[in-house]
Amino acid sequence: MSNYQLGLNFAIAQDQKDELAAYRSQFHIPKDKNGNDWLYFTGNSLGLQPKTTQAYIQQELDDWANLGVEGHFEAKNPWLPYHEFLTTSMAKIVGAKPIEVVIMNTLTTNLHLLMVSFYQPTKTKYKIVIESDAFPSDKYAVESQLDFHGFDSKNDLILWKPREGEDLLRIEDLATILEVQGDEIALLLIGGVNYYTGQYLDLKEIATLGHAKGCMVGIDLAHGAGNIQPNLSDSGIDFAAWCTYKYLNSGPGSLGGLFVHEKHAHNKKLKRFAGWWNHNKETRFNMRQPFDVMAGAEGWQLSNPPILSMAAIRASLDLFNEVGMDALQKKSKKLTGYFEFLINALDNDYIKIITPANPKERGCQLSVQVANADKNLHKKLTEAHIITDWREPDVIRCAPVPLYNTFQDVYKMVEKLKSILK
Ligand SMILES: *Cc1c(COP(=O)(O)O)cnc(C)c1O
Repeated sequence: MSNYQLGLNFAIAQDQKDELAAYRSQFHIPKDKNGNDWLYFTGNSLGLQPKTTQAYIQQELDDWANLGVEGHFEAKNPWLPYHEFLTTSMAKIVGAKPIEVVIMNTLTTNLHLLMVSFYQPTKTKYKIVIESDAFPSDKYAVESQLDFHGFDSKNDLILWKPREGEDLLRIEDLATILEVQGDEIALLLIGGVNYYTGQYLDLKEIATLGHAKGCMVGIDLAHGAGNIQPNLSDSGIDFAAWCTYKYLNSGPGSLGGLFVHEKHAHNKKLKRFAGWWNHNKETRFNMRQPFDVMAGAEGWQLSNPPILSMAAIRASLDLFNEVGMDALQKKSKKLTGYFEFLINALDNDYIKIITPANPKERGCQLSVQVANADKNLHKKLTEAHIITDWREPDVIRCAPVPLYNTFQDVYKMVEKLKSILK
């Protein structure tokens, strides 16, 4: 959309036309002491709380109070199958089949459990590829996996890097890595949407390249779930994991999501760790059975899950389901495009957006690099109750989230940035 205009009136008009505008009132928006809403641009770090969350959690607290252990069967939403109530909506959001998705544990834990199955190095095929500016937790996770299997976490970890003088990754460079070292590579573990640059990579291309060399392909979707439409089933990747506290608004430290492609759903030979929760539901409570693993993503669970956290996820997913990812994407493209337009209109050479300009290669986040800036800029924004995320050395990450951010939020943010930079 190229018909953006400068000035507050344009932002007001866009908000009036916005079919999703009413959803903002379904969230708790933090306020300053004069009662003005913060300008909240960190839904990529911790999404805001839906107003319905409290009632969803209260329901489970009440059932626990009134039913004790009987709540596993007798609660309004029985706890025994509670995670199943989340599967269909979660699967829709990431473009997967229900058998491919489960909510369990947290992100880094899930990455490790998935690597137990999908990182099975041999003496000759053992290296792992990760992007050079991967989120630290992912890097630590793969380094520790290499180390655990007796490999060298420095030499056997291959970094897919942007070229000298560039910020973004090029798929042809991954192709070159695979051409040269593919026979030694066992696993690609790549951030589908990079947390730092906001770059959304083509998952299908990554899967195709990796599989051509016999590598397993896993994707970290922490910055993708609820932000872009990754069509996981169709992409052909082997596995993915994500958290639900960022774009999925499910509360601090909430549980993560896990995807295992259907092609692996019935492979009982795939090595994995076991607990009672990935054992066949029918015989789970007949103690001392030989282990009988469940099909699909549920076959990676270990423990009975925390229902209170699942209730918060359910509140949020119900909202996502009501709105639908198509409508969210439509607004997201407009809102982030508007943000980009205003930043570019500042027209100076010390501000640069490092996120891809092509809307198909990004989600809602823009990473804005401010030359010679230091953390002071971020501090001044925060003091003005403009909540953004600072990444050393000089990048502000801002995510206008289509569920609750407005065109006026974006307008006001850029005006403030302009006045601080003067
Ligand atoms: C947010 C994030 C994490 C956080 O991991 P937890 O295990 O949930 O603490 C990991 N990886 C990426 C890419 C992230 O964006």
